[in-house]
Amino acid sequence: MRRRELLGGAAAVAAWGATRSFARARALRVGVVGGGIVGASIALHLARAGAKVTLFEKAGPAQGATQNSFAWVNAFVPDTHYRSLRIESLLAYRELDRPLGLLMTWGGYVNWGATAAEARTVQENAAQLADTPYAVRTLNAAELAMLNPALSPGEMSAAFFSAVDGHLDPVFVTRQFFAHAAAAGAALKFPCEVQGLTFRGARLAAVRTSRGEVAVDRLVVAAGVDTPRILAMADFALALKHAPGILAHSLPLAPLTPTIYDGPGGLSFKQMMDGSVVGTDAAEPPDTPVHQAIRKQAIPFPDEALRAQHGNRILSKIGVYLPAARGVGLQRLTLGFRPIPTDEMPVVGVLPNAPDVHVAVTHSGVTLAPILGRLTRDEVLRGSRADILEPYRPERFSAVRPHPA
Ligand SMILES: Cc1cc2nc3c(=O)[nH]c(=O)nc-3n(C[C@H](O)[C@H](O)[C@H](O)COP(=O)(O)OP(=O)(O)OC[C@H]3O[C@@H](n4cnc5c(N)ncnc54)[C@H](O)[C@@H]3O)c2cc1C
Repeated sequence: MRRRELLGGAAAVAAWGATRSFARARALRVGVVGGGIVGASIALHLARAGAKVTLFEKAGPAQGATQNSFAWVNAFVPDTHYRSLRIESLLAYRELDRPLGLLMTWGGYVNWGATAAEARTVQENAAQLADTPYAVRTLNAAELAMLNPALSPGEMSAAFFSAVDGHLDPVFVTRQFFAHAAAAGAALKFPCEVQGLTFRGARLAAVRTSRGEVAVDRLVVAAGVDTPRILAMADFALALKHAPGILAHSLPLAPLTPTIYDGPGGLSFKQMMDGSVVGTDAAEPPDTPVHQAIRKQAIPFPDEALRAQHGNRILSKIGVYLPAARGVGLQRLTLGFRPIPTDEMPVVGVLPNAPDVHVAVTHSGVTLAPILGRLTRDEVLRGSRADILEPYRPERFSAVRPHPA
């Protein structure tokens, strides 16, 4: 049954419309900090359950990591528990896609290599889904060619196809979450920066923002790379890695492929629903002062010539394997900063020292947004703890100080 759901069964679609009981929801004023895909999903789920939701976003919808994301929705991670959480999120996306008009692309994923070393990596990746109902299919060169005639893989040492993966336009999907959250009664405040939290004893009383103070009963912090700054306002110390990443976006092309590709040399690419081809490679950035600065802090890419150089390099590599994209012009090169906790696992749940403050920060936030929305809603409104989130609790970070009473 679950396999059928993941591959698009109708039962999954019906579940989103089903009414659920959240007896305490209407009395609760819940603030959400962050209007990326994670905060937007959480606000939507809370508002649909009847909570009085206010989302605070300092810039606008999807202005953080979300707008710079490759947005591959997948379960490929070595950790089996984390993989099962991601599979739950893929299932949740299948439920939400049609009812919310997310226009997701369910074209699966192809991983192929050219060298013997890459063949080993491809086989390790394939093994990650081997013990799940969503096992991958190994491909030979003829099968890969048949799967998508637009792809020209060249010499191939190993390849597989996973049917369960999808991709999306992260800005569009976040905006859809915003629109449905607003329709469900959420107040979406932007630009509106959260600047402080007011506590009475250990209990949260209000959020202080650039547009005044707002009384809240609970707060969910989903502020991407800025999450540690907000959690510090509740005396909770969380560290994230600094993890920049670039993506080249081409000018639009006619439809070529719905699939996500990981090819030789660490090249990843896909075609967005607007026709643009988006991708990145594994090239080490050159040792220029600009790149040294980006390696240290989250700053905008300051140099147009370098932007064009990186973008055109990536697009020309994609053109090797996707001949219809050869010579296509660069639309833009994005530079984003991934919100990655130091142990690379999500941080989700109520703070141990502040019972009204929840957090949701993770890499793969695009993949995890629906499940984090659903589970955070349940935990905030029911005061419950979802078993599946136990490995990802903020408690595991040691530098926790009790909130001053
Ligand atoms: C290059 C790259 C490729 C990626 N590829 C993938 C992928 O293929 N698949 C995948 O699942 N994930 C991928 N990710 C990761 C994914 O994009 C992020 O995990 C996800 O977008 C995080 O969403 P978020 O809502 O938590 O954070 P963000 O999108 O960063 O949103 C946080 C928001 O909080 C707001 N904010 C911050 N401070 C305040 C404040 N004080 N007051 C009010 N608002 C505030 C910010 O303005 C921002 O809009 C990639 C990321 C990058 C950079």
